[in-house]
Amino acid sequence: MAVPKKKHSKSRRDRRRSQWKAKTPNLGECSNCQELKLPHRVCPSCGHYDGRQAKAVK
Ligand SMILES: [Zn+2]
Repeated sequence: MAVPKKKHSKSRRDRRRSQWKAKTPNLGECSNCQELKLPHRVCPSCGHYDGRQAKAVK
């Protein structure tokens, strides 16, 4: 396996890690209740998916 010849400096390491941040998930609107939800997931607030009740809601 290829091994790096020289150790990267702290500044180079920290510059790389400065780019590493959490990104906001791409949310879509529920077609039934207009609540924000993740795409390709059953709506957590009303339990609808693909125009029908997919999950019972409490
Ligand atoms: Zn919904």
